[in-house]
Amino acid sequence: SVHRARAAITRHIRLVEDFPSPGIAFKDLTPVLADPDGLDAVVAALAEYCAGADLIAGIDARGFLVGGAIARELGVGVVAVRKGGKLPPPVIGVDYQLEYGSARLEVPAAGITLRGRSVAVVDDVLATGGTLIATGKLLAEAGARVHGLSVIMELDGMGGREAVAAGLGADVPVHN
Ligand code: AMP
Repeated sequence: SVHRARAAITRHIRLVEDFPSPGIAFKDLTPVLADPDGLDAVVAALAEYCAGADLIAGIDARGFLVGGAIARELGVGVVAVRKGGKLPPPVIGVDYQLEYGSARLEVPAAGITLRGRSVAVVDDVLATGGTLIATGKLLAEAGARVHGLSVIMELDGMGGREAVAAGLGADVPVHN
């Protein structure tokens, strides 16, 4: 099933040079998800990694596309980890640096119980690891346990996995 996901990624990924800024080789995985077999393969593979969590957290915005589908597959709910300023108050937020610029991520501090939950985080691409580290810290601050971090694709040579291990601890598994 991981093999099927990898084949779909190879077939449908769109590589965009110099986006969103010069020197960045952007990996557009949305065509993979727009393909029915690609979506099925990616969701099935990520759902295996997320199994056992009691809530799925999808990171803004491409993590949303798979997060809901994975949650439905596992019979659990989904929460959006959103970019700053999008959620109604009250929120819990974290500021961090990423490959291109700085950013802020937020989760709701009301309406959705995060405290005591086992949360599996999903996103499309792992690059430097800054986004996953920020999300892990945010969920920990909200009182949740991070079940694991799963991405559709990990970029080689950026040290993302090592950064996540250093930032969140090696006991938080990273999958792709
Ligand atoms: P990072 O925090 O550096 O691991 O970057 C991961 C986040 O930025 C994810 O939400 C990705 O969607 C996005 N991202 C970073 N670099 C790329 C890239 N080269 N191609 C596609 N998305 C990227």
